[in-house]
Amino acid sequence: MKPIHIDSMYGVVIHRDFTPLFVDEKYAQLFGFESAQEVMNLSSLFDIIDPKYHQIAQQAYNDVMQGKETPKVRSYVNQDTQGRIFSVLTVDHVVEWQGSPALQITVIDMSTIDQANQQILEQEQKYKDLIWHSLQGILVHRDFKPLMVNPAFVDLIKANSVAEVMALDSFMCLIPEYNQKNARNLYQQLISKELTSTNDVVENICFDGQTRYFQLFESVIDWGGLPAIQTSIIDVTEKYHLERQIEYQASHDDLTGLFNRRAITEKLNQKIIDSDTCSEICLLIDIDDFKWINDQFGHASGDEVIVRFANLCKKAVDESGIVGRWGGEEFIVFLSNHSLKQAKAIATTILKKCELEVYQFSDHHHIVTASIGISQCQTSNCNIESLIQTADKNMYQAKQQGKNQIVSPED
Ligand code: GH3
Ligand code: MG
Ligand code: MG
Repeated sequence: MKPIHIDSMYGVVIHRDFTPLFVDEKYAQLFGFESAQEVMNLSSLFDIIDPKYHQIAQQAYNDVMQGKETPKVRSYVNQDTQGRIFSVLTVDHVVEWQGSPALQITVIDMSTIDQANQQILEQEQKYKDLIWHSLQGILVHRDFKPLMVNPAFVDLIKANSVAEVMALDSFMCLIPEYNQKNARNLYQQLISKELTSTNDVVENICFDGQTRYFQLFESVIDWGGLPAIQTSIIDVTEKYHLERQIEYQASHDDLTGLFNRRAITEKLNQKIIDSDTCSEICLLIDIDDFKWINDQFGHASGDEVIVRFANLCKKAVDESGIVGRWGGEEFIVFLSNHSLKQAKAIATTILKKCELEVYQFSDHHHIVTASIGISQCQTSNCNIESLIQTADKNMYQAKQQGKNQIVSPED
């Protein structure tokens, strides 16, 4: 914003019934005269007062001189000898001039102040235009009651008009319930200046009832002399879904939808960091003679076995733990806070369900079996790698002992 320079000047005239008695140089200058004498030469000050103010000026003069009205500040619009239109404030005083009462008027040129006001209005208008035409949705609110919204905001939240949004007592109804408390907290932190601004991706319920995701920037502004929150929004719904999809793909196996090796390792390490003591049980499961299925019936048949086997593992473990695809036809299960007995029961269920799963390849019915190695960790400094290694060793032992069986620590 450009600095606004305010400078005003004032001049003095004394007159009796508009016949000039005294004029100072400033007054003459204000009205575009070369000298005070030029004004003194006028037969009446009405010559320099806009005719539409003549009656008011006369009435004011009469009232003040007759004591009907106390002298006061008045405002007029004048035109000088060069045609410059300028507004003035006048202050009346009844004075004595050569033994009789006369009216002294101090005239203050308000043009520079008018210009300054005009500049402020223009700057305000520019700012309003900027907000109004912004492609970012902008909302100003106090305690969630909208004070101003721009058309872009209306479009983004699928409302029909600015008036429809402004009619809301609170737009809390656009915030999903799970996030309302958090939204109130953030509001308080901003208003109390604990936070200067926020930048979050949030879910909102739009006027059409659909949910969309917005990047939300919030900061405190002055609105009508009181603090309020200015919120700018950008619709990031597509980006949000794409990111979730990428995240999902990065952590899940394409074929089975189970967690992949990387995700399962991360989850486990996080779990161990989060809890003081570890009571993890690991199940390493490997499908028996899988290569033979691939060789006999083709890769697609092998894939079908992997998918169906993954599903039965997921069902058997359910909410008890996490299941991942460790490699080709190898699966891993982690159970927290389970006894070895419970873990063995889950492993047994997997093997039983596996035997009930009948595959039809090349007009023949086939049944697949698997071998399971179990390991357990009950120490405070659990080592995931050695937990997996032991489970692998036990699984290998199960293979050695004839496959389709479980080998666990206490066997
Ligand atoms: P064992 O009983 O000793 O476990 O023998 P196996 O034949 O099951 O084990 P092996 O490790 O020899 O063979 C696993 C095969 O799995 C080798 C590999 O080509 C195949 N494989 C790995 N990933 C996939 C996959 O995603 N789909 C299919 N169809 N086959 C896969
Ligand atoms: Mg294998
Ligand atoms: Mg195998």
